[in-house]
Amino acid sequence: MFVYHHGLRLTVADLAIDTRRRHARAFVSHAHSDHIARHEFVLCTAPTAALMEHRLGKRTVRVMELGEPISWAGVTLTALPAGHCLGAAMLHVEADGQTLLYTGDFKLSPSATVTAAEPAPAEILIMESTFGTPDYRMPPQEEVLARLRDLLQRILENGDVPVIEAYALGKGQEITRRLHDMGYAVVQHPHVWAVSRIYESFGVALGRYRRWDGTVEPGEVVVVPPRCRPEMPRRRQVRLAVTGWAVDPAAKYRLGVDHALPLSDHADYDELLEMVERVSPRVVYCTHGSEEFVNRLQELGWDARLLGRATQRRLF
Ligand SMILES: [Zn+2]
Repeated sequence: MFVYHHGLRLTVADLAIDTRRRHARAFVSHAHSDHIARHEFVLCTAPTAALMEHRLGKRTVRVMELGEPISWAGVTLTALPAGHCLGAAMLHVEADGQTLLYTGDFKLSPSATVTAAEPAPAEILIMESTFGTPDYRMPPQEEVLARLRDLLQRILENGDVPVIEAYALGKGQEITRRLHDMGYAVVQHPHVWAVSRIYESFGVALGRYRRWDGTVEPGEVVVVPPRCRPEMPRRRQVRLAVTGWAVDPAAKYRLGVDHALPLSDHADYDELLEMVERVSPRVVYCTHGSEEFVNRLQELGWDARLLGRATQRRLF
């Protein structure tokens, strides 16, 4: 049904899936840079098409509506919400009496800017397992947001500028909406802002934010892509990162920031296990994860295998 060689290919449908190499036909689960390429023909959701066009220029696309099956090369394909970023979709495949679910990056718990993943049962599950060790259990969001609020208050009272590092697609918009809900005005780096405009064009309200023009007003919070250092003469910046990797207390040193807060757009360890239970597959293949997670699934009685290299990606 599929092969894995320099990336995933759905053989029954002659589709590359989320590969970084150019292919004649591909399914793209979402528009993060490690999932897109200049394919000749792409199956994806309308928001992913818009975000991909923003990043790579116009491509030939067949748009998939979430939850609406399509026929493709004799198989039935359905895009399902993945809960990861705008447009992110899992792919459900029915072919030759078999079913397969490819998750791409996903998150089961709700966020402020995307709806949670909606998995469907399948015999074969191919899932990301980025946070596949028990260390990566996310604390409750309210707790993290309360800590963020305290930090921001302290930084602003000192007359410093809070600068939050967040990925330009997804995390940047999620944190903007969260900051708006806390009553803060947000200044976005142009890369974040351009993606925010696409979010709003698809009806996702992000609240009060503006494009960075070189100035910061008192009380404003700046949102920039990771490792981006805007010039702010005579203002002290206090840098914060929002990433699931921040569960590790040493993350702030690795990320080179003053504070790191664990807000993730990926499933945490418990959600990864929950995904397997909800899909209830005959066999599960794990990508982007650790051997430890595969071993844990095997201990729990699942037929689990590792797909690709046993590495943990650093996602921010
Ligand atoms: Zn992603």
